[in-house]
Amino acid sequence: MGRVAIVTGGSRGIGAAISKALKEAGHTVAATYAGNDEKAAAFTDETGIKTYKWDVASFDACKDGIAKVEEELGGPVEILVNNAGITRDAPFHKMSSEHWNSVIGTNLTGLFNMTRNVWEGMRERGFGRIVNISSVNGQKGQFAQANYSAAKAGDIGFTKALAQEGARKGITVNAICPGYINTEMMSTIPEKVMNETILPQIPVGRLGEPEEIARCVLFLTSDEAAFITGSTVSANGGQYLH
Ligand code: NDP
Repeated sequence: MGRVAIVTGGSRGIGAAISKALKEAGHTVAATYAGNDEKAAAFTDETGIKTYKWDVASFDACKDGIAKVEEELGGPVEILVNNAGITRDAPFHKMSSEHWNSVIGTNLTGLFNMTRNVWEGMRERGFGRIVNISSVNGQKGQFAQANYSAAKAGDIGFTKALAQEGARKGITVNAICPGYINTEMMSTIPEKVMNETILPQIPVGRLGEPEEIARCVLFLTSDEAAFITGSTVSANGGQYLH
């Protein structure tokens, strides 16, 4: 059954793969982004998926953006994938409040801003699928990522709390924790660091592909996944087992 889906940060990287997979599954998808107009336009040209620009860190921008999506795509948002995320890495003794606030704003408060603005409608209609893209670094912590690890761990707590609230209303809320995924972010890592530091940490012996995360999202957003809520799916090639 085709539903209206929003994927935040859905214009590139992991989000782009998620947007495409949801479209292929028959859903009408809106992919949001923050500022990279060129990438967003290229993505729409390639896929036919509409893109919308707003900052998930702003509650009002999310409210207005969601209303616009619902008007233009012709229905209420029934699937929400909170994928938009940023890094501002620094060892803690050099971490500024700007580093902290920007990462918490996008990666944690962004989930509140988006989800709060679809939640009441999902409750009223008795159906909703919410997937939050957290990270292995929210599970295990990571040097120079106190901000990112805190936000991503927060995403998991948010998921578990909301799953309990949505359960009787047909709304499932789940988290996915990707490990190292082959996106643009990874292509900037020097080959030596990749081969000697990163790959040896991953028992599967390679990076994950964005499509492998998209497949997890497809499963969790399907009607048939109604009994799975509050879960955290680790997709990390065996890098971190808990
Ligand atoms: P990318 O940097 O490739 O893409 C990020 C997307 O999010 C872009 O579309 C970007 O828009 C959008 N975005 C960023 N900030 C905002 C904002 N404030 N408001 C709205 N949109 C925003 O990210 P990845 O694909 O690598 O990561 C996707 C998610 O997966 C993130 O949450 C990340 O933390 C998580 N993750 C990634 C891993 C990896 O190895 N890549 C590993 C574990 C987790 P624009 O194009 O305009 O900048």
